[in-house]
Amino acid sequence: MKSKDVRNNFLEFFKNKSHTIVSSAPMVIKDDPTLMFTNAGMNQFKEYFLGNGTPKSPRITDTQKCLRVSGKHNDLEEVGKDTYHHTMFEMLGNWSFGDYFKKEAIAWAWELLTEVYKIDKDILYVTVFEGNEAEGIPVDQEALNLWKEIIPEDRIIFGNKKDNFWEMGDQGPCGPSSEIHVDIRSAEEKAKVSGRELVNQDHPLVVEIWNLVFIQFNRKADGSLEKLPQQHVDTGMGFERLCMVLQDVKSNYDTDVFTPLIKEIEKITGTTYGNDEQVNIAVRVIADHIRAVAFAIADGQLPGNTGAGYVIRRILRRAIRYGFTFLNQKEPFISKLVGSLTDQMGEAFPELKSQRNLIENVIREEENSFLRTLDQGLVLLDQIVKETEGKTVSGKKAFELYDTYGFPIDLTALILEEQGLNLDEKEFEKELQKQKNRSRNASKVTSGDWEIVSEVENKGFIGYDHLDAEVKITRYRKV
Ligand code: ATP
Ligand code: MG
Ligand code: MG
Ligand code: MG
Repeated sequence: MKSKDVRNNFLEFFKNKSHTIVSSAPMVIKDDPTLMFTNAGMNQFKEYFLGNGTPKSPRITDTQKCLRVSGKHNDLEEVGKDTYHHTMFEMLGNWSFGDYFKKEAIAWAWELLTEVYKIDKDILYVTVFEGNEAEGIPVDQEALNLWKEIIPEDRIIFGNKKDNFWEMGDQGPCGPSSEIHVDIRSAEEKAKVSGRELVNQDHPLVVEIWNLVFIQFNRKADGSLEKLPQQHVDTGMGFERLCMVLQDVKSNYDTDVFTPLIKEIEKITGTTYGNDEQVNIAVRVIADHIRAVAFAIADGQLPGNTGAGYVIRRILRRAIRYGFTFLNQKEPFISKLVGSLTDQMGEAFPELKSQRNLIENVIREEENSFLRTLDQGLVLLDQIVKETEGKTVSGKKAFELYDTYGFPIDLTALILEEQGLNLDEKEFEKELQKQKNRSRNASKVTSGDWEIVSEVENKGFIGYDHLDAEVKITRYRKV
């Protein structure tokens, strides 16, 4: 099944169960001081769970652009090294706001996976919240009973609070969850160790695909739980992981979500994916990061020196350096992947199409500017490593790399890690603070390094909201 059909079938399935299909919210969040990027499907519905406002329908479904590179969910270090965590990914979801609850959510999830997608029941495991006595939260008996009617008991696994209990914060709505995991190992591997043992153990072929959260409690300021007057369902399924299962491959990168991009990377860089692990990681990182950066720019977040802009710049510089070191790319090449990405994703996410030129230009400029200093920076870093006694590299030196050569600290740390070294991050922070104080004293006004040149209307862009409104797009020029 093509990825396009996987996405559409999900939405259609829930539409047929009376859900309203809505658009993805922007991946970049502009008005929430607690969150820079959307990291789950439920983010755009947060206020409804808090009882502020009512959704346009009690049943909603969508695919949400998510980015997990900061805060509570930060998967950046895993990306490329493993084959199932991305920075940017799509989360398919269905919601009930005070409408249906566990019975329907569980039955429909099972129906969709086993009857529509026709996933073999024998590769599925589910988890149920085991309860937590210390905190007075009961075992999720209701979910357990429902699953027992569907799946043999030896495929049900009890999970702890970390994996199977969702809370919005210290206070507020919360509840147990049930996850669905797949075991796509070979029969031979399965004979050696039961999939049960590998669920939630970071095994690349025994992975979580769907999380069903049942929001039934409110945690009060004193820590106690009370039953919510209305119960809600919030589910999230990893689209790329689902495609991996349905396309019968062993890595998200072998699905048609990624293969066109990987082919393009191979073509442009003259490398082959699949032969050398270091090259493989580099190719995966680049295929992943181009998506994160392109979607962020399409949502109006340009690379910059602070906040969300710096997160995007860091991701892009990481990709540039992987290309430089492991694929021998000394000239800009990542911007050349935007066309392939737009062909692949532009139908589901039209903002990519309408912003294609901007995305290409911004990425090319960023590549040009970082490539100017990357080479020298790497030479300096080599020298620093040679002069380092022991395993820890000076934060002061890392600061020089950051300040003069534009090396984000996590990039320096990553390069050092490849050589079995680590970094004195505390000392780096100290130097950074000193610099901030200096520039504050100089009372210099610095804005980002992009300036607004004109504002144009763009009717085709639907990234900012899904009210079908015309949205103003700002065009930028590098200064
Ligand atoms: P994992 O345990 O694999 O890190 P999670 O429990 O952190 O996943 P959830 O917050 O439950 O993930 O998100 C719902 C679903 O989104 C997961 O079941 C998974 O299929 C998918 N997902 C989560 N993180 C990523 C990621 N970084 N890249 C791709 N898919 C992801
Ligand atoms: Mg996770
Ligand atoms: Mg998990
Ligand atoms: Mg989960």
